[in-house]
Amino acid sequence: MPFGGEWKYQISNSIRKTDELGKYISITPEKDEDISAVESEFSWCITPYYANLMERNDSQCPIIKQAVPDITELHDPLGVMDPLDEEKHSPAPNIVKVYPDRIAWCVSNSCAVLCRHCLRKRMVGRESFDFSKEARKSALDYIARTPEIRDVLLTGGDPLIYDDGMIEEILARLRAIKHVEIIRIGSRTPCTMPQRITEGLCSMLKKYHPLWLNTQFNHPKELTREATEACNRLADAGIPLGNQSVLLRGINDDPKIMKELVRGLVKMRVRPYYIYQCQTLSGTAHFRTPIETGIEIIRKLRGFTTGFAVPTYVLDTPYGKVPMSPNYIVDRDKDAVYLRNFEGKIWREPNPMDENSPDAYI
Ligand code: SF4
Repeated sequence: MPFGGEWKYQISNSIRKTDELGKYISITPEKDEDISAVESEFSWCITPYYANLMERNDSQCPIIKQAVPDITELHDPLGVMDPLDEEKHSPAPNIVKVYPDRIAWCVSNSCAVLCRHCLRKRMVGRESFDFSKEARKSALDYIARTPEIRDVLLTGGDPLIYDDGMIEEILARLRAIKHVEIIRIGSRTPCTMPQRITEGLCSMLKKYHPLWLNTQFNHPKELTREATEACNRLADAGIPLGNQSVLLRGINDDPKIMKELVRGLVKMRVRPYYIYQCQTLSGTAHFRTPIETGIEIIRKLRGFTTGFAVPTYVLDTPYGKVPMSPNYIVDRDKDAVYLRNFEGKIWREPNPMDENSPDAYI
């Protein structure tokens, strides 16, 4: 099959039934029942490519955990469907506006793989999503009449689930709006369906620079030859690539795994950008970790690997993202601060409170 057609093969052979999934992993009668119980609440689908990364007999496989429904999804008393109150921050159809100068525009409700931890599970994979011509026009009209919007993130679902023609139509319409300075695409296809990143797609995308793309790899097992080639094609088209991992219990809540992931990503020319704290999102109690786990991971990355390979650990809230970091300032006296380095050594740095003080920098 020609490579350009391979992504359509992945979509049309998307795994949605347990008997198909059984070709990749062991499905016991009990697991079959569990999946039936979960799918009435939270949909699922998996590309053959991603399913091929699963370890048949390893119930702890990070690929299985991210993609295959688990009965624990139905036991989450704290979880809510819209933890960021995105629906209340929507001034136009499918647009989320939290920050003064930028918006997220959800242009699709489908993805190659429906991640079990998906933040937008209230809309992804569900019928109610409206991306009709009228809904698109209303969103574009809103962007056109709101001059403070200089940055538009196309997200979803996954924008790259569409054909090149539809993506180009959206990009061309955005580019016709003078105050839109940059366009970003959020897509997990480099990880879950790298075949989507064709030469043709990249040639089209590069007509719409400045264009950035953020993706989501959560585990080193996802850094395959196919994913590397997809990222290289995007990078060769001049598209800066960032990665937004989600901190997931039992998948990547371990500094060693995160270090391997971020080192692998920079080799693929993808900059680790964020690690998201897993939200109190329905069906994700089994994935959530204490915030301290994420802070400890950052402490074990900073200084121990390339600075730009260390992502920012954030909690997203209805008021925007809040960065969380170990505290490196351990004390302050009158004219100095005491800082702890990555190895725990303390450094005293002169730092007068009042720069006009005669004691300054004595
Ligand atoms: S790719 Fe993103 S939007 Fe799609 S299911 Fe996964 S987390 Fe959700």
